[in-house]
Amino acid sequence: MTAFLRAKRREGKTMRWIAAHLGITLGRAVAKAARLRLILHVPRTYVATEPMPGEPAPIGGEREVLDEGRCRWIGADMGTAWRMCGHACANDEPWCPHHKARVFVEEVGR
Ligand SMILES: [Zn+2]
Repeated sequence: MTAFLRAKRREGKTMRWIAAHLGITLGRAVAKAARLRLILHVPRTYVATEPMPGEPAPIGGEREVLDEGRCRWIGADMGTAWRMCGHACANDEPWCPHHKARVFVEEVGR
Protein backbone atom coordinates (compact mmCIF):
# COMPACT_ATOMS: atom_id res chain seq x y z
CA MET A 1 0.00 0.00 0.00
CA THR A 2 2.82 2.43 0.90
CA ALA A 3 4.68 2.02 -2.42
CA PHE A 4 1.45 2.43 -4.42
CA LEU A 5 0.49 5.51 -2.41
CA ARG A 6 3.94 7.07 -2.83
CA ALA A 7 4.06 6.35 -6.59
CA LYS A 8 0.56 7.65 -7.30
CA ARG A 9 1.09 10.81 -5.24
CA ARG A 10 4.21 11.51 -7.30
CA GLU A 11 2.10 11.07 -10.45
CA GLY A 12 -0.26 13.68 -9.06
CA LYS A 13 -3.25 11.40 -8.44
CA THR A 14 -5.82 12.72 -5.98
CA MET A 15 -6.27 11.12 -2.58
CA ARG A 16 -9.84 10.22 -3.62
CA TRP A 17 -8.49 8.34 -6.68
CA ILE A 18 -5.84 6.57 -4.60
CA ALA A 19 -8.32 5.56 -1.88
CA ALA A 20 -10.71 4.14 -4.49
CA HIS A 21 -7.93 2.12 -6.13
CA LEU A 22 -6.69 0.82 -2.77
CA GLY A 23 -10.24 -0.07 -1.74
CA ILE A 24 -10.00 1.93 1.50
CA THR A 25 -11.82 4.98 2.83
CA LEU A 26 -10.63 8.45 1.90
CA GLY A 27 -10.02 9.22 5.59
CA ARG A 28 -7.77 6.18 5.99
CA ALA A 29 -5.83 7.03 2.82
CA VAL A 30 -5.36 10.65 3.94
CA ALA A 31 -4.19 9.54 7.40
CA LYS A 32 -1.67 7.15 5.85
CA ALA A 33 -0.42 9.78 3.39
CA ALA A 34 -0.09 12.34 6.18
CA ARG A 35 2.00 9.90 8.25
CA LEU A 36 4.24 9.36 5.19
CA ARG A 37 4.37 13.15 4.66
CA LEU A 38 2.98 12.72 1.14
CA ILE A 39 0.22 15.31 1.25
CA LEU A 40 0.52 19.05 1.25
CA HIS A 41 -2.42 19.86 3.47
CA VAL A 42 -4.28 17.97 6.17
CA PRO A 43 -7.97 18.82 6.50
CA ARG A 44 -9.09 19.97 9.93
CA THR A 45 -11.44 17.62 11.71
CA TYR A 46 -13.61 20.58 12.74
CA VAL A 47 -14.03 23.83 10.84
CA ALA A 48 -15.73 26.75 12.60
CA THR A 49 -17.93 28.74 10.24
CA GLU A 50 -18.25 31.81 12.46
CA PRO A 51 -16.36 34.89 11.20
CA MET A 52 -12.77 35.10 12.46
CA PRO A 53 -10.50 38.14 12.95
CA GLY A 54 -9.32 39.31 9.51
CA GLU A 55 -12.28 37.65 7.82
CA PRO A 56 -12.76 39.10 4.31
CA ALA A 57 -16.23 40.58 3.87
CA PRO A 58 -18.33 38.44 1.50
CA ILE A 59 -18.68 39.97 -1.96
CA GLY A 60 -20.86 37.32 -3.61
CA GLY A 61 -24.47 38.16 -4.31
CA GLU A 62 -27.22 37.15 -1.89
CA ARG A 63 -27.76 33.35 -2.30
CA GLU A 64 -25.60 33.45 -5.46
CA VAL A 65 -23.59 30.31 -6.28
CA LEU A 66 -20.30 31.58 -7.69
CA ASP A 67 -18.29 30.25 -10.61
CA GLU A 68 -14.84 28.70 -10.45
CA GLY A 69 -12.08 31.10 -9.55
CA ARG A 70 -14.12 32.74 -6.78
CA CYS A 71 -14.19 31.54 -3.17
CA ARG A 72 -17.32 29.54 -2.31
CA TRP A 73 -17.00 29.77 1.48
CA ILE A 74 -20.35 30.43 3.14
CA GLY A 75 -19.89 31.85 6.62
CA ALA A 76 -23.57 31.93 7.48
CA ASP A 77 -26.48 29.66 8.25
CA MET A 78 -28.00 28.33 5.00
CA GLY A 79 -31.43 29.42 6.27
CA THR A 80 -30.36 33.06 6.18
CA ALA A 81 -29.64 35.39 3.24
CA TRP A 82 -26.17 33.83 2.86
CA ARG A 83 -23.41 35.08 0.58
CA MET A 84 -20.35 33.27 -0.70
CA CYS A 85 -17.00 34.88 0.09
CA GLY A 86 -16.35 35.61 -3.61
CA HIS A 87 -12.69 36.61 -3.29
CA ALA A 88 -10.27 35.30 -5.92
CA CYS A 89 -8.92 31.76 -5.73
CA ALA A 90 -7.19 29.40 -8.14
CA ASN A 91 -9.55 27.67 -10.58
CA ASP A 92 -8.90 24.26 -9.03
CA GLU A 93 -9.49 25.55 -5.49
CA PRO A 94 -12.87 26.05 -3.83
CA TRP A 95 -11.63 28.67 -1.38
CA CYS A 96 -9.53 31.85 -1.25
CA PRO A 97 -6.22 31.64 0.70
CA HIS A 98 -7.90 32.92 3.90
CA HIS A 99 -10.62 30.26 3.88
CA LYS A 100 -8.31 27.50 2.65
CA ALA A 101 -6.19 28.17 5.75
CA ARG A 102 -9.33 27.70 7.87
CA VAL A 103 -9.95 24.27 6.33
CA PHE A 104 -6.41 22.87 6.19
CA VAL A 105 -4.39 22.73 9.37
CA GLU A 106 -0.80 22.26 8.27
CA GLU A 107 1.52 21.99 5.33
CA VAL A 108 3.33 18.72 4.89
CA GLY A 109 6.13 18.19 2.37
CA ARG A 110 5.95 15.73 -0.53
ZN1 LIG B 1 -12.87 33.12 0.92
